Amino acid sequence: MLSLHDTALGRVTEIVTRDEGKLAMYVCGPTVYDVPHLGHGRSALVYDVLRRWLEARGTRVRHVSNVTDVDDKIIQRAAEERRSAGEVAEENEQVWWDAMDRLGVLRPTVAPRATEYVAQMIEAVAKMVEKEQAYSTDFGVYFASETVADYGLLARQSLRSLKIGARVERDPTKRSPVDFVLWKRAKPGEPAWSSPWGSGRPGWHTECVVMSLDLLGDDFDLHSGGLDLQFPHHENERAQAAALGRPFARHWVHHAFVELAGEKMSKSSGNYTSLVDLLDSADERAFRLLVLQSHYRSPLEVTAETIAAAESSLARLDAMARRLGAGDGLALAPVRLAASSAEPMSRGGVDIVKHVERFNARMEDDLDTPAAISEVFDLVRAANAAAEAGEVVRASSMASAASSLLASVGLMLKAASGEVDAISEDLLARREAARREKDFALADSLRDELLARGWIVEDLPTGSKLRRSHQ
Ligand SMILES: [Zn+2]
Repeated sequence: MLSLHDTALGRVTEIVTRDEGKLAMYVCGPTVYDVPHLGHGRSALVYDVLRRWLEARGTRVRHVSNVTDVDDKIIQRAAEERRSAGEVAEENEQVWWDAMDRLGVLRPTVAPRATEYVAQMIEAVAKMVEKEQAYSTDFGVYFASETVADYGLLARQSLRSLKIGARVERDPTKRSPVDFVLWKRAKPGEPAWSSPWGSGRPGWHTECVVMSLDLLGDDFDLHSGGLDLQFPHHENERAQAAALGRPFARHWVHHAFVELAGEKMSKSSGNYTSLVDLLDSADERAFRLLVLQSHYRSPLEVTAETIAAAESSLARLDAMARRLGAGDGLALAPVRLAASSAEPMSRGGVDIVKHVERFNARMEDDLDTPAAISEVFDLVRAANAAAEAGEVVRASSMASAASSLLASVGLMLKAASGEVDAISEDLLARREAARREKDFALADSLRDELLARGWIVEDLPTGSKLRRSHQ
């Protein structure tokens, strides 16, 4: 059973999903006014790891993540660059998806854009106004936060302290400093939609509550994002859902920030200025490994040094995969690994079962990826030791298991060099010997074993040859 830290409860709790075997997850997505920074990358990776691992274990994940394509920052950027807000949003959204693809982050099941949901947002705001939980002023429409009894739950603060801490807004028409905007009247030249409160645009907090409920339904399982979203964004989403009378997210999960060793982000200090910059200058898997090696609720340090360390770990893992013929298309689904009857297990022995079980137990325990990854490293060490002891088949099974576990969290090892690894060569030689001795049953089983390792045997007049099956 998966447990995660739920911000609303302030503790780790078991995740009991609305529908058995399924997980409905909403992850707050980017505001596309600029290229993504490292914090965006961590956010995408944390939930991609969770999703992939759950899917590998047989859970059906519906993952919705929005694209905020209308916002003050986009409008401001468009004005600076003397082009339309639509152009700025479109261009940066493309950069976003390119970066996600390079990071190996699965595309969300649905990725709605705010501009596609304006009509529904207007409807929701109208309902809140009608219930007198929102009010219209010269500036736009505000939500009356104090009408929600437990406002401050996610902030883990009392309403009183939130009021003291609230910024002084420019708009004196706000009734309370904790009230927030649902609808903004447009200034001339700004993107605008007509509404009962004049021409304008929806507030960011309304976007996510409307889209998550529409695409995931009431009482969906997980609402997540960075710690910076806990308050006010998520608090305000929750308040609106309460006002709309809709059961909202069952659980709230927040991950910590990316830190740059206290240094200012700049190329000269050897740090990365953006996610694209990092992807251009390092192994594209290095960031994922760093994310895996730190707990999602702890700050993550991304510097030239930590990235270089991740790259050398990857190089060692790739070398193991090459040497022992594991990785690439050979990765077995961990769900298969979990079944004790699975063939690689019977060859690798009880050790592999133990490592796989421990890996999964770590993942279930509040997504303890650092501990899970160190289980994989233990398995890799055992595989290398077995190889050195000449137990090649056992070593190879362990390497395959390690490779599969890494694949279950989205880290793909690169084993295909086109070169035939030593174990496969040995299997081929044994198959040829069996054929010479007319032991066709053994020859066939060796051929199947080679196939399982990603090799097709081609019998030519000059002898047998191996060809990659997945290329
Ligand atoms: Zn959001």
